[in-house]
Amino acid sequence: MSQPPFLHVAVAVPLSTTFDYRAPPDAPLPPVGSRVRVPFGRRQETGIVLRHSANSDLAPERLKASSTALDGAALLEADDLWLLRFTSDYYHHPIGEVMAAALPAMLRRGKPLRGDSERLAPIAGKGVDIDALARRAPKQAELYALLEERGALAVDEIAQRLPHWRRYASALADKGLVRFETTAAVDAADTPAVRPGPVLNADQAAAVAAVEKSGGFGTFVLDGVTGSGKTEVYLKLIESTLARGRQVLVLVPEIGLTPQLVSRFEARLGFRPAALHSSLADGERLRAWRRAHGGKAAILVGTRSAVFTPMPNLGLVIVDEEHDHSFKQQEGLRYSARDLAIVRAKRRDVPVVLGSATPTLEVLKHCDDGSYERLALPKRAGGAEPPVLRLIDQNRYASRDGVSGPLLDALDKHLGDGGQALLFLNRRGFAPTLICTSCGYVAECHRCDARMTVHAANGELRCHHCGARRPIESECPRCTGNLKPLGEGTERLEQLLTSAYPERRIVRIDSDSVQAKGALADALELAASGEADILVGTQMLSKGHHFRRLTLVGVINADQGLFGSDFRSDERLAQSIVQVAGRAGREERRGEVLIQTSYPEHPFWQRLFDAGYAGVAADALAERRATGWPPYAHIGLVRASAHRRHDALACLAFARRYVEGIGGLEVFGPIDAPMARRAGRHRAQLLLRSGDRRALHGALGNLRPALEGAKVSRRARWSIDVDPVQLF
Ligand code: ADP
Ligand code: ZN
Repeated sequence: MSQPPFLHVAVAVPLSTTFDYRAPPDAPLPPVGSRVRVPFGRRQETGIVLRHSANSDLAPERLKASSTALDGAALLEADDLWLLRFTSDYYHHPIGEVMAAALPAMLRRGKPLRGDSERLAPIAGKGVDIDALARRAPKQAELYALLEERGALAVDEIAQRLPHWRRYASALADKGLVRFETTAAVDAADTPAVRPGPVLNADQAAAVAAVEKSGGFGTFVLDGVTGSGKTEVYLKLIESTLARGRQVLVLVPEIGLTPQLVSRFEARLGFRPAALHSSLADGERLRAWRRAHGGKAAILVGTRSAVFTPMPNLGLVIVDEEHDHSFKQQEGLRYSARDLAIVRAKRRDVPVVLGSATPTLEVLKHCDDGSYERLALPKRAGGAEPPVLRLIDQNRYASRDGVSGPLLDALDKHLGDGGQALLFLNRRGFAPTLICTSCGYVAECHRCDARMTVHAANGELRCHHCGARRPIESECPRCTGNLKPLGEGTERLEQLLTSAYPERRIVRIDSDSVQAKGALADALELAASGEADILVGTQMLSKGHHFRRLTLVGVINADQGLFGSDFRSDERLAQSIVQVAGRAGREERRGEVLIQTSYPEHPFWQRLFDAGYAGVAADALAERRATGWPPYAHIGLVRASAHRRHDALACLAFARRYVEGIGGLEVFGPIDAPMARRAGRHRAQLLLRSGDRRALHGALGNLRPALEGAKVSRRARWSIDVDPVQLF
């Protein structure tokens, strides 16, 4: 028999190479895109076959045999593999780790795609004497007791609890006490039963027509003010795509925050869309992935990693709330799901729709230069008026725990009129600072360059950067003076409102208050149903919610963002204000938005009030062009951290030498990160900037293998971030 060819395999390890193995002898050749189990060092790893070839660079005796094929057919088609390869190249991240990020955990661990649908069930009415059995065969008794207690169990689950369980199960089966069952794993395809929605207004209809006309690829920016009916546009496009028998991929920032979206899809389309997000159990995740992969799921709604899910009949991609930062992964494989959605749509020649009331400057620039098509929805749908915005000068009014007199008056008025109010403060906890009233001591984190936040309800100080906790000191550790919480967080605000409005229902929504399973859904339900009178919360409350009774929005401390050091500060602040303001007055009654600031004269406010988000964005774009920041330049950030400052800096100094002198590339640093110490590690960064994407990528492409091989980099943790959204 002739020599089996070689397999180039991507294995999930942090090295930018693929690994060669021999194909399994005397077995069908594992197809490209299928998984194989391969020996790696002393372990066995799951890998994906990228290529077959007749020869390998390695001497044949060094090639270990590929042990087992895990799939009969390709798991990933050519287009899927292409996307992963693109991601690996563009983000300069090892292909094996990209593959791992793209696959559900169970597939990564080598579980079969089809799922073991086998179950083991107890046979009723046998009158087993467990104690007697336990004396003779304790493991059999243990297994039987488990089945008696829980009923039929998937073999997967049994395997996790009881090693070698099959032996005991067979013995029990021989005694007629249990039997194997298979659950019918028929996976029916979604069948839409569309119920009509509202008649689209002219702007919505024009947007739908523009996308439908495109036929193939096109990037469409649905630039619609809050409440303008973007979701209705999505639904129309989804309907027509489904009618053509094609699948739709919908990317959303966080499903937990927008339960209304999925329910709205379900109500209209007559089936529940497959969903992929972080709170799914592994089995559920695999099921949703499998349905999309098999073409059974007509719609897949998912958070960022869903962008990699194979969908054989993909016909449309939607990215809702395109501006949301959660689309960019901030660790490991630092990819932008929004950008990859566009890349994927282009490759598949299908349209992609990016929706937002506050499009990012990257997207707006592409609209200006004509590479994306802007579809405007300038008015609220269904006749609701835009909310009225007003600044409150905090220098002029006294305030109580951060809430000014005029805002309290507005609360009285709106609540009295039967409205609901939302107070937005992007700071959780009770107070951001604990200070000594006599000596000025401030409680700081021992492991970060940061203050501890007071969490009064738990009697704790917490670091929001590394998670450190300690009890609140009873007196100043330096001078034994009195300690006082300074400033306010959502917890303090909630306390104030509870005492000011004892008869009102107040619901706080931030990551502390919604930790319990289901707590977020319950809180959002109270908000949406109108049972809650006052909502207090962070960014979580500003996402695409539609709270019908909500008429007043108060922004407690807008100044946090006015003096940010990041070049994106203005853009971000405008996005968060406009988004949270957009929750107000979405139905009959007009919304009012009060923004508290100590800097009412700041040009940012003038611009926002005169010209809205579009005005702020246009200014910011002009400034970025003048100063050469994205989207008018391309940047990459190399970060390093180590216990010793020297090690982090040395790693980056090495990197600097490597990229220095490349034409068209500017290199800044290495410098300490804005928060230099975090979780006990010293952090530093090196910024690469170029007007020419190829220059940047050429540099990063060489840098990665150099860092992998260098000695200095072993004393630091380092990473490469292409198109970083956060410069610290
Ligand atoms: P967005 O997604 O832009 O925030 P939605 O799609 O949630 O906006 O629409 C806001 C509200 O307007 C919803 O209650 C929706 O049902 C309603 N709506 C949207 N389009 C229309 C329309 N053409 N006619 C009447 N009501 C509409
Ligand atoms: Zn800390």
